Amino acid sequence: MASKTCIRSLSFAALTEVLHTLGQPAFRARQLYAWIWQKGALSFAEMTDLPQSLRAVLEEKYSMEALQIDFEQISRDGTIKCRFVTFDGHLIEGVLIPADDRMTACVSSQVGCNLGCTFCATGFMKVKRNLTPWEIVDQVVLLNRAAMKHHGRHLSNIVFMGMGEPLLNYANVLAAIERITAEDGLHMSPKRITVSTAGLAKMIRKLADDQVKFNLALSLHAADDTKRSQLMPINDANSINDLVLALNYFYIKTGNRITFEYILFDGINESLTDAKNLVALCARVPARVNIIEYNPIQEADFQRSQEDQREQFIAYLEKNNIIAKVRRSRGKDIDAACGQLANRK
Ligand code: SF4
Repeated sequence: MASKTCIRSLSFAALTEVLHTLGQPAFRARQLYAWIWQKGALSFAEMTDLPQSLRAVLEEKYSMEALQIDFEQISRDGTIKCRFVTFDGHLIEGVLIPADDRMTACVSSQVGCNLGCTFCATGFMKVKRNLTPWEIVDQVVLLNRAAMKHHGRHLSNIVFMGMGEPLLNYANVLAAIERITAEDGLHMSPKRITVSTAGLAKMIRKLADDQVKFNLALSLHAADDTKRSQLMPINDANSINDLVLALNYFYIKTGNRITFEYILFDGINESLTDAKNLVALCARVPARVNIIEYNPIQEADFQRSQEDQREQFIAYLEKNNIIAKVRRSRGKDIDAACGQLANRK
């Protein structure tokens, strides 16, 4: 039996054509499109203002390929980790991080990741496939439902920092963001979306040329090439100098915010020299810095920086007028923190 086409892979024009062929009035295409992209329907059964007979025909001819929540864990700090199962049986994860001033969804862009950052649990799982635009949107829809259910608030922010390298799934990530931000989609502001990359200079330039409106974060973690290559093998082909040039190009073309993400590892990247290197780098790129607490994983033996070391590092940045925010780790007790996503219960 031929496999069905996913209804969400069709453009508005294609949907209009499908419904016309089925003898439906023109407004049905708008209704169907709104169910798919605005109301976040995950099945034809939810589309209650479409006639039952039409839903039955659509069900017979098309699939929805929707994500489903496979497993949900709630941390003591209110963070929620959702494990999702795709239509073809892959597992991915997304995290909802509540705070006083925001409700952030951290979403995945690929099943697994090939970049092999040495501190990251996902990096130990080879990539199986890219997520489709609608699988990325589904994560947002489902995490928004979890936000409403458990915290009574809607999502305010989205970060692409879950499983996978978003810029290696470029077209689908941009198509998902287009639907998330579109007026006839979820209508969220692109200023509330941050795409985080391990650092692919060529693709950062492509983002600039495509004039994207969302924010960009670089997982930096070391401001010299030798250390960064040890932590992130992708640095061998994308040196810090290459990244500086690409990020400045991005900033000039888009004016959008750039953030350096910097996880402090005990005895690795936390010395005064490391802090000086970071200050020197910040003089070359208009970026702010997020300092992130590390969460040890079973696959690697990195440890989190001691508190006094972390404070000295941050004090040095502040003395040199670098805006550095400390991101306390969230959801540690459920392996939902940065670098911990690996489909474990
Ligand atoms: S940190 Fe990101 S890019 Fe690196 S291995 Fe993990 S998921 Fe992949």
